[in-house]
Amino acid sequence: MKLSIRTSLTLWYCVVFCLSVCLMEAGTYVGLKAAMTSAIDKELAVRIRGFNDFLQEHLGRLPLPRVLADLRLHAALQPELSMLQDDLGHTLYCGTLVQALCSSPAPSGSQIAAGGKNLRLHSSTHTIHGVRYTLLVATDLQFRHDLLIWFRMLVGLTIPVALICAALGGYWLSGRAFAPVREIIAGVRSINDRSLSLRLRVPSTGDEMQLLSETLNGMLARVEASFRQITELTANASHELRTPITIIRTASEVALLNSKPTLESHRQALLQICAEAENNSHLLDNLLLLARSDAGVQPLNLCAISLQESVGKSTHACQYLAEAKNIRLTLREPTEDLCVWADASYLHRLWLLLIDNAIKYTPAGGVVTLSLQKNIKAHPVCEISDTGIGIPEAELPHIFHRFYRAENAKTQSEVGSGLGLTIVKWITDAHRAQVVLKSEVGKGTIFRIVFPGTDERPANVVNSSTPNRVAVPD
Ligand code: ADP
Repeated sequence: MKLSIRTSLTLWYCVVFCLSVCLMEAGTYVGLKAAMTSAIDKELAVRIRGFNDFLQEHLGRLPLPRVLADLRLHAALQPELSMLQDDLGHTLYCGTLVQALCSSPAPSGSQIAAGGKNLRLHSSTHTIHGVRYTLLVATDLQFRHDLLIWFRMLVGLTIPVALICAALGGYWLSGRAFAPVREIIAGVRSINDRSLSLRLRVPSTGDEMQLLSETLNGMLARVEASFRQITELTANASHELRTPITIIRTASEVALLNSKPTLESHRQALLQICAEAENNSHLLDNLLLLARSDAGVQPLNLCAISLQESVGKSTHACQYLAEAKNIRLTLREPTEDLCVWADASYLHRLWLLLIDNAIKYTPAGGVVTLSLQKNIKAHPVCEISDTGIGIPEAELPHIFHRFYRAENAKTQSEVGSGLGLTIVKWITDAHRAQVVLKSEVGKGTIFRIVFPGTDERPANVVNSSTPNRVAVPD
C-alpha cells in the first residue's frame, strides 16, 4: 500500500511521539517509586531514632514492664508498627500490626506481607544502659501502592489521548507544511507549451520552498528559451528553404509557359534550378550537421594534422573565388611546422567557411590574409583577417547564433543563411579550440582560432602514430 508523504509523516510523528511519551512516563514512574521509597526509609530512620531516644530516657528510670506499657500508649512512635528484642532474641514488645514478625523477624530494608498489609521494615541494634536491644519499626506501604496505581491509571488514560491529539496535530501541521508544495504542483500543472512565460509565485520565506520555486522558475526560463530557439529555428529554416524552392518553381513555370522556347532559354532555366537546388542541399547539409551536433551523434576522427597543409589546401581552393571578386588572398606561413589534433574534413570545412565569409564581406580590391603562428603559450593559432565591411559592435554577441545575419551584411548583394558561424563555433568547440573575434565597421574583421597545445592529446584519437601524414581533403 502506498501512503502519501503527509500520512507517512503523521505516522512517523505518532510513533516517535508515542515512544518518547512512554519512555518519559516509565522514567517518571521509576523515579516516583524510588523517591517514595527513599522518603519512607527516611521516615523509618527518624522513627527508630525516636524509639531509641524513648528507651534511653525511660529504661534507666522505670522498670521494663512500665516502659513497655508507656510505649504502647506513645502514639507518635506508632507502637502498633514497632518491635523490641533483647540481645538473646527474645521479643520484649511486638506491635499489633507486626505480630507476624515476632516469630521470624525479617532483615532491615526488606518488604514483607504481614496481616494483610505490605510492610517495609527498618531495624537496628542499640546499647541502652549496658544492654543490647534490637529495635524494629515498620510502615504500611498501602499509600505508596495506591499512589502508584493511580499514576499508572493516569498514564494509561493520558497516553492514548495525547497520541490522538498528536496524530491530529501532526496531520494538520504536515498539511500546512505541504500547502506550498501543492501550490507549486498546481502552478506547474497550469503551465503548458502555450504559457511557458508564466512563472511560479515565489514565497519570500527564505526556506526550501522559496529555493524550490526559484529553481523551477529558472528551469522554466531555460525551457522557454530553448522552446523559443526551436520555434525560431523552425521558422528560419522554413523561410530559408522556401526561397530556393520558390525560385525553382518560378523558373520551371516560366520555362513551361514560354510560347517560343529555345534551347538556350531551357538551359538558362535549368542552370538557375541547378544553382538553387545546390543552395538548398547546402543549407540542408548545414542543418543536418547542426541537428546531429545538438544530438551529440556527430563523431570526430581526430588525427595529428599539419596546420600549414590543411590551411594551404583550403586557401588554394578559394583562390578562384577571390580572383573572381578581385580580392587578394594570401597565406603567411611560419618556418616551423604547426601540428594540431583534428578531424581533417571538419578542419577543412572550418577554413572554407571563414575564408568564404571574408571574401563575401570584403569589397572588390580588398585583401584577405591567413597567417599561422604560435602564441606565447606555444599553442597553434590561425588568423583570418580581411579589409571588409566589419561587424557592428552591438551585433558581435549574436553573430554565432543560428540564422543571425548582421544588418550591414543584409544590405550586401551576397547571399547567406546565417548558419556558417554556428558551424564554425561547433567545429572549434568540438576541437577544444577558441575563437577570438575582432571587428570594426568599415575597416575589417579578424577571426583568431587558437588550438590546444599538441601535447594536450584528446582521448578519442583514431590515428596517433602518423602525425602530419593524414590526407587533407581538397
Ligand atoms: P552568412 O551565411 O550570412 O555569411 P554566417 O553565419 O557565416 O552566415 O555569418 C553570420 C553573419 O556574421 C553574417 O551574416 C555577417 O553579418 C557576419 N560576418 C561573418 N563573417 C564576417 C566577415 N568576415 N566580415 C563581416 N561580417 C561577417
